[in-house]
Amino acid sequence: TESYKSILITGGAGFIGSHVVRHFVKKYPGYTIYNLDALTYAGNLENLKEIEDFPNYEFIKADITDENKISALFETYKFEKIIHLAAESHVDRSITDPLAFVKTNIIGTLNLLNAFKSLWENDFENKLFYHISTDEVYGSLGETGLFKESTPYSPNSPYSASKASSDHFVRAYGETYGVPYIISNCSNNYGPFQFPEKMIPLMINNIIQEKELPVYGDGKYTRDWLYVEDHVEAIDLILHKGKNKETYNIGGVNEWKNIDVTNLLCEILDQKLNRKAGTSAGLIQFVKDRPGHDRRYAIDASKIQKDLNWKPKFDFKEGLEITVDWYLENENWLKKIISGDYRYYYRNQYTR
Ligand code: NAD
Repeated sequence: TESYKSILITGGAGFIGSHVVRHFVKKYPGYTIYNLDALTYAGNLENLKEIEDFPNYEFIKADITDENKISALFETYKFEKIIHLAAESHVDRSITDPLAFVKTNIIGTLNLLNAFKSLWENDFENKLFYHISTDEVYGSLGETGLFKESTPYSPNSPYSASKASSDHFVRAYGETYGVPYIISNCSNNYGPFQFPEKMIPLMINNIIQEKELPVYGDGKYTRDWLYVEDHVEAIDLILHKGKNKETYNIGGVNEWKNIDVTNLLCEILDQKLNRKAGTSAGLIQFVKDRPGHDRRYAIDASKIQKDLNWKPKFDFKEGLEITVDWYLENENWLKKIISGDYRYYYRNQYTR
C-alpha cells in the first residue's frame, strides 16, 4: 500500500550504488529509479549497462556539492525517497586530500538534506532520507568487543570523520526539522565492480598480473567483510521496513585479518590460473603502515537481524570465488579503469 513512486539513488555509478540501482530497477518496475552521480574517478556507467535501457531508470549527471543544481533537480523531479550513497570513499585518498571529503561527504549531504526539506516540509508523510554510512565512524576496536548502534562515534581518519559528520547532520535534520531519516552503518563490502584501489580487487588484480601484493604493517588489521549483495538486501529491507530515526548496523559476522584474506585470494587464484600452490603468496610485501590505521572493526548486527529478519546469505569463500571469477571474466573492465578509458564511455551516452 505504499504510494510513493520516485526514488533517488545518489552515487549509483559507484561500486555499492551500482548494485543498489540494478537491484531496485529490476525488482521494482513500479518505482522510477533516478541515479544521480557526478561520475568522479569512482563512477562508471558501464557498471549499469544491464539496466540502462529499462523504462523505470533514469541517469542524472550532477554534483551534490552544486547547491543550486541539486535544489532545482528536487523541484523538477520531486524525489520522494532518497538512498544517499554518493561519497568520496577511499581512506587513503582522504589522508592526502581531506577537503575533497568535506566537500562531498559533508556539504554534499547538507545540500541534499536542504533540498529534501524545502520540497517536503509540509508533507513528510511517506518520505524518507536514507543515509548510507560506514562502521568506520565508531573508530577502532581492541581484541574483543563489537560495534553496536549505541557505540560512541570516534572517527580516526578524515574519511570516517567526514562520514561521522554527515551522519550527525542527518540526525540533526530529523530532530530539528522533522526530516524523516534512517542511517545504516555497514562493514567493509566486497564484490564485482569494486574500484581496484580497494583491498580485495587490488589484490586480485595484482595477483593476476603477478605484481607485488602490498600488505599494511604486520598484516593483522582485522575487517568484517560483507558480500555487496547482502548489503543491498539489507538496504532494500531498511528502505521498506526500517523505522524513522533508527540506525542499523550491518555486518557479516565475518572477521578476517588482512594477511589471511590475501593468502586466501592467492590460494584461489593459484588454482584458477593453474599456478603451483604457493606461487602467488610469494608476491606478498609488507609495506609501511597507513597513519591512524584502525586495528579492528567488527559489527554487532543483532538489531537488523531481529527487527528486520536480515542475515547475510553469502559465505565469505563463496563470495570471494564469485568475485574472483567476475574479475577474471571482466579483465577489460579492469584494464579500461586502470587506463582511464572508461571516462570516455559516458560522453557518447549522455549529454545532460
Ligand atoms: P565508490 O567510491 O565506489 O562510489 C562513489 C560514487 O559516488 C561514485 O559513483 C562517484 O562518482 C559518486 N560521487 C562522488 N562524489 C560525488 C559528488 N560530489 N556528487 C555526486 N556523486 C559523487 O563508493 P562505494 O564503495 O560504493 O561506497 C558507497 C557509499 O557506501 C559511500 O557513502 C560509503 O561511505 C558507503 N560505505 C561503503 C563501504 C565499502 O566497503 N565500500 C562500507 C560501508 C559504507
